Amino acid sequence: MKLSPRFFKKWFSPLRRLYLFLKPAYWRLRTPSQKKFDIHLQYIFIGCCIGVLFVASIIPAANKLIYYSIEKKDTSVPSNKKESVSLIQEETSSQNLEKKPEKQLLFNIEPGKIKTISLALTKGETLSGLLKRADISMKEALQVSKALELVLDIRKLRPEQVFELYFSEDNSFYGLSLELRHGDLISVFKDVNGVFIPQAKEGKIVSEMVQVNGTINTSFAQAADDAGLPKAISLQVIRALDGEIDFRTDLKKGAPFSVIYEKKITETGREVGKSILQFVSLAANNKTYNRYYFVDAAGNPGFYNEYGESAPKTLMKRPLGRGRISSPFGIRRHPILKYQIHHSGTDFPAPLGTPIPAGGDGIIVQKGWNGAYGKYIKIKHTKTYSTAYGHMSRFNDDFHVGSFVKRGEIIGYVGSTGRSTGPHLHYEVIKNGKQVNPLKTYTIPKRSLKGTALTEFKEHALQINPDYQDPLLEISHTR
Ligand SMILES: [Zn+2]
Repeated sequence: MKLSPRFFKKWFSPLRRLYLFLKPAYWRLRTPSQKKFDIHLQYIFIGCCIGVLFVASIIPAANKLIYYSIEKKDTSVPSNKKESVSLIQEETSSQNLEKKPEKQLLFNIEPGKIKTISLALTKGETLSGLLKRADISMKEALQVSKALELVLDIRKLRPEQVFELYFSEDNSFYGLSLELRHGDLISVFKDVNGVFIPQAKEGKIVSEMVQVNGTINTSFAQAADDAGLPKAISLQVIRALDGEIDFRTDLKKGAPFSVIYEKKITETGREVGKSILQFVSLAANNKTYNRYYFVDAAGNPGFYNEYGESAPKTLMKRPLGRGRISSPFGIRRHPILKYQIHHSGTDFPAPLGTPIPAGGDGIIVQKGWNGAYGKYIKIKHTKTYSTAYGHMSRFNDDFHVGSFVKRGEIIGYVGSTGRSTGPHLHYEVIKNGKQVNPLKTYTIPKRSLKGTALTEFKEHALQINPDYQDPLLEISHTR
């Protein structure tokens, strides 16, 4: 239904005709006093209409008025709330001043006399909302916002952005600062004339090497946790030694470990980006495993021992773990095609969305829809070996064709795309271009760095771990 002129003509002209027809007949029936009453009724109706329109138009304005009066009451009533704020002030002021001495250079006030409150933007809150929450007057809030706008697009502030608000001893507002996501430092401070002056300082991101040592009592995961190693790093440790050490059986009580990882931090010590494991030393099986993270000239990252060799690793036989096999590799009767065909891989039934790990370190060479395979990924591990994964419901978007993946990294999720009767992973191991039985053991030989790559590796290893000694050099010395 559209309110077109045609629509009006169609419906209103007959209605109007009916009205014009009925009106004289109705009028003839009414006495003069009744007619008077009718006219009054008409006026009252029109008056009501105008009244309703007027109220509707002033409601937004009235809303604003009511909102402001409530806000005012809110800020003045809870005196205990104020107390809690000032408590936080005292706590944070002492902490912040110790942690961030460089911040004091931004304004000319004695460090001991500043009170600091840290406030984070809540979802949907504006800067003026945050300033109001900190009991800063409307006038000053407006001045600060205007000054800040000169160096920052304040509409682009994200929720959880933390503001440091500074107050003098007598609680008068002095200014604020904030650190942006990439480490840039923005500040606005009142000068001697009471004018707010903005400042922007480009932040530097520096990397910091963190060393964590510990001893294993129950499990590596527990010991890493106790030693304060971030969870992401202990996972990287397990991945670096995956296929060489069985973390459930090969570790003895009292085994020492040492981990060095790289953390990226801003000038104020805030962590940004992903931390990367650089070195791990772990005692297991009566020897010490030392592994160094190294990116070769081609850009492939990997873990190497002190000789510059990567460990030989096997391809996963069952990427989804010890589950049921619904269809093994070899000759079988196809459930959809109903005749004997050669099954090129192994089928592992699993719930929709089960994560699929890469069966070995390698480079993704194919990703996308592949006919009967549905959503499909192929990883090239060496010149000889590749693995393939079919019927996925979706991919891990972090990886693309050409991406390097490590053994165990999630490449996608179980689904039933392509020619498939239910959610399962179709897993193939391809050797020299021919599918082979995935349940057999295939070892990817160790990779040894040679020539300049080896020299670079040794320099890198010494940088990461000052205790690094070239094992070959040592042998030649003792001879
Ligand atoms: Zn299959």
